[in-house]
Amino acid sequence: MKRITESLLFRLVLSHLFVVVVAVVATALLSRSLAGSFFEAHLADMGADPAMGGMSVAMSEGLRKGFADSFQSALSIAVLVGAAAAILASTFSAIRVLRPLERVRRATRRLASGLYTEQIPIPVETELAALAHDVNALGEALEKVEERRVRLIAEVAHELRTPLTTIQGYMEGLLDGVFEPTEEVFAATAREATRLQRLAADLSSLSRAEEGAIELVTARVDLGSIAAEAANRLRPQFEGSDVPIEVRRLNDLPVDGDPDRLAQVFTNIVGNALTYSSPGGRVEVVAQRRGTKAAVSVTDTGRGIAPEHLEAIFERFFRADRDAPGGTGIGLTIARRIARLHQGDVTATSPGLGHGSTFTVEIPLAG
Ligand code: ADP
Repeated sequence: MKRITESLLFRLVLSHLFVVVVAVVATALLSRSLAGSFFEAHLADMGADPAMGGMSVAMSEGLRKGFADSFQSALSIAVLVGAAAAILASTFSAIRVLRPLERVRRATRRLASGLYTEQIPIPVETELAALAHDVNALGEALEKVEERRVRLIAEVAHELRTPLTTIQGYMEGLLDGVFEPTEEVFAATAREATRLQRLAADLSSLSRAEEGAIELVTARVDLGSIAAEAANRLRPQFEGSDVPIEVRRLNDLPVDGDPDRLAQVFTNIVGNALTYSSPGGRVEVVAQRRGTKAAVSVTDTGRGIAPEHLEAIFERFFRADRDAPGGTGIGLTIARRIARLHQGDVTATSPGLGHGSTFTVEIPLAG
């Protein structure tokens, strides 16, 4: 019984019935008193009509009673028929409302069990249509998240496989006596282990960036000086590579940003410029105002980027040349996310392969 009284259908029917009963009782009371007084007036007219020759008291009493009885019976039948019609109509309309709700409920259960593809048909009622629309949008969003998750796992597995296979190959070779335990073999194994370590570190930064869990500790900082410091820190690492770095700060660039995160962006971009340059090349860092933005561009004379890869390089794990030196293909993904968290962006241009490239970081100037 409790289940029935708690059901929405029961409550909707009950509330419809309540309205109908109130309407019927009000109509009955009103029509009873009105019909009575109209009938009295009619009787009085008849009694006064000389053509009728007046009416005896007994006759008029009989008429009054007859009218009251037939009115009562007609009213009772009308109430019963009305109530039956009201139950039918309210059940029908309640079911019409509840059916789409039931569909939404089934859809949310499907979502909970991981089935995101099925869409709910949109009902005609505006409010229910909005609800169905929202549930469909939720399904689509969850589907995209799931797709990204599956793709990420496949990509991570792929990235892990290469260094692990190489390490395993060297170890088995050493055990079987195929390889001599030379310094070269150990160095190659150590390189792959370092690669795995870097991948693990990059993945943890990436997952924090993708979850939006990077918290910015902002302060008023100069974007040009952050870029210059990052370049200075990298210089010793590339001292022997014969690729000089020149830094030109044309304007002060005050921005509200997280100095550590912005340094991470420039370390990646300047580091790439040096990594993808050949001896005899040059890297130039220019800091200047561009309208309401602070812009720092890092230009190198290195290997350049094919036009079709200019956007792809910002996707995680993308590396234009998998055999080239370099890292995990995650650095630019994180750099762009950090710049976007600062309402800015990182973009790349290149005249083509072999002709160098320019990466530009733009962040809104502090007002
Ligand atoms: P990685 O760790 O591989 O450098 P990034 O995300 O920083 O990862 O860069 C992704 C890819 O973009 C690189 O593998 C490389 O192919 C390309 N790239 C980045 N910077 C440069 C550059 N300055 N010149 C040429 N190619 C670049």
